Amino acid sequence: MINPDKHRARKRFGQNFLHDPAVIQRIVDVINLQQNNHVIEIGPGKGALTKLILERVDKLDVVEIDRDLVSVLTTDLGNDKRLTIHEADALTLDLSKFGQDLRIVGNLPYNISTPLLFHLLTHKACIKDMLFMLQKEVVNRICAEPGSKQYGRLTIMLQYYCDVDSLFIIKPGAFSPSPKVDSAIVRLTPLAKPRYELSDNESLKIIVRAAFSQRRKTIRNTLKKIISEADIKELGIAPEIRAENLEISDFVKLANHYHQLKINSL
Ligand code: SAM
Repeated sequence: MINPDKHRARKRFGQNFLHDPAVIQRIVDVINLQQNNHVIEIGPGKGALTKLILERVDKLDVVEIDRDLVSVLTTDLGNDKRLTIHEADALTLDLSKFGQDLRIVGNLPYNISTPLLFHLLTHKACIKDMLFMLQKEVVNRICAEPGSKQYGRLTIMLQYYCDVDSLFIIKPGAFSPSPKVDSAIVRLTPLAKPRYELSDNESLKIIVRAAFSQRRKTIRNTLKKIISEADIKELGIAPEIRAENLEISDFVKLANHYHQLKINSL
């Protein structure tokens, strides 16, 4: 058996464990759990959030990559029939096998938070909502407004598919070991109906990536290999502005046009 107190935090797994009971309670309260919810916790670690969540729901699946922590959790909580512990990588997790209306929660490993969010978006159809602790700076990017420095690829891809709410900040002292930066809690709720009609997800990704590839340049420049200046104007968008000044609806217009161009060229 592995003693949880002897477990050395592993940097490569982004391990910063919550140890402040008031903070842990506050996070679990804000999830607003109902008994019949099916919760998936990513990165349960030593179970700080897990134990409180288990007091409130009938079904909890946890996904942990670190085998030693899986062993700690199994010793501590393995007898609880409501809990299923998966030793797995959340980045390759197939959420559809868990069913529908899933509530995903976690104090996410910061080193993989962006790819993990993109991965989870591919499963949005079976997700009711997600409540995550992330680096504050990442939450600011997710919730950014057009025209700000934080507004970028992460903003567009998440706000197109989800309602996003930044809830509160958590200081480094709530963790052991303490991270160097502040953390924040964000709620992401996938939209039942998309904000704007999009013909093709891949085209949106391509446009957003190209538009933000060089933030200081105008979209006339960053998009020139894929959409002409004349076409950008035709869509009612000024070619001389930068990506950070486009609304999400503009990105969707550009993506739909780009998709049409691809179809026409077949
Ligand atoms: N939930 C615990 C807490 O709040 O104290 C631990 C949070 S710690 C920031 C992140 C956790 O995610 C660690 O337990 C780490 O081992 C786990 N983790 C890291 N990468 C992972 C991955 N790819 N898939 C699943 N779990 C992962």
